[in-house]
Amino acid sequence: MPIYCVDCGIKAKKTHSDFSLMKGKIIIKDLPAYKCPKCSKIIFNIDDVAKAKEHFRKAIYESDTALDFERTLSSDGKNLTMRIPKQIEEFLHLKKGDKIFLKLENKNRIALKVTS
Ligand SMILES: [Zn+2]
Repeated sequence: MPIYCVDCGIKAKKTHSDFSLMKGKIIIKDLPAYKCPKCSKIIFNIDDVAKAKEHFRKAIYESDTALDFERTLSSDGKNLTMRIPKQIEEFLHLKKGDKIFLKLENKNRIALKVTS
């Protein structure tokens, strides 16, 4: 199925391009893509993106690959609270009400385990 540039209305050519996930923390190299010959806009096929995301998700689940996020603790007046980065929320499909287990591993390490 031909892919057209939405700006120029002309047929885009097959190519490969890097795709960025998690606001640039992860780059998927050489994902199949289309490039507009006029404006050079890169267009990704939604199925290719979904496949790449799923592939990446499996790689994370099945490995010890770590992504680091720094958070500043807040307070709701009684307890300390921590915001979950949007990238992690979306990646793990977390939602309000989901259960998370905290494990104090040592004096400077807390592990979070998602159970849902
Ligand atoms: Zn174009």
